[in-house]
Amino acid sequence: MNELIILGCGSSDALKNYNANVAVINQQGTLLIDCGYSIKHALAAQNMGIESVDAIFITHIHGDHIFGLERIAFENYYKYHKKIALYLHPSLYKTLWDESLKGSLGHTDKGSAVLEDYFDVHFVEDKFELFGNHYQLLKVKHIKGVAAFGLNINEDIFYSGDTTPICEILQDLRFNVGLHDATFSASEVHSSVDSLLENYPEHIRKKLYLHGYPDNYLDYQDLVDKNFKGLTKQGMRIKFGQ
Ligand SMILES: [Zn+2]
Repeated sequence: MNELIILGCGSSDALKNYNANVAVINQQGTLLIDCGYSIKHALAAQNMGIESVDAIFITHIHGDHIFGLERIAFENYYKYHKKIALYLHPSLYKTLWDESLKGSLGHTDKGSAVLEDYFDVHFVEDKFELFGNHYQLLKVKHIKGVAAFGLNINEDIFYSGDTTPICEILQDLRFNVGLHDATFSASEVHSSVDSLLENYPEHIRKKLYLHGYPDNYLDYQDLVDKNFKGLTKQGMRIKFGQ
């Protein structure tokens, strides 16, 4: 049995909630899906530490999804003396290392360093298997021209990552519970509640928790509860099978 733990459910500018990152945990290991700048605090809030993370999957290159990699890399390198697995689509690599992490992680006590000095990097194109689970990558639509991916886990749990509505994916996708990016005002790069109501039929909406939302969520709680499965909450656990 797996547990998906909501480590954070806030948008990038949220103060009330940590970055929208989750962990998938079972007896074989712990995978983080995204690793934003709030990760150490978010893990601690669930009585977890950096040392408890075995692998990380990155959906796309934004600070609330990747800036925590710097902390995890340094602590694993200097403190725990271990490398953990990092799963990402190859199209994300250059932006992740050359344009985001290299300035800080590019040097260690031993001289210049590369991403592979900190992580066992696994490129994944369409799918991967990890700790007994099957992960299917979904190409979602976040920022025009910028790669971003969601996941379908065991055809059971759908995770959108940051995206605008993706009807063409969701209408044919087999899943039972979804976590979908959401915001409450009009947006070109996220999914406004209005756009989700407009684009998704009720039978899909009722399977979706809204996730990665801004601080004014209480104003929309009733609307969300009526039309969707609800809002994700920090510390919430969703059990699902292998
Ligand atoms: Zn983003």
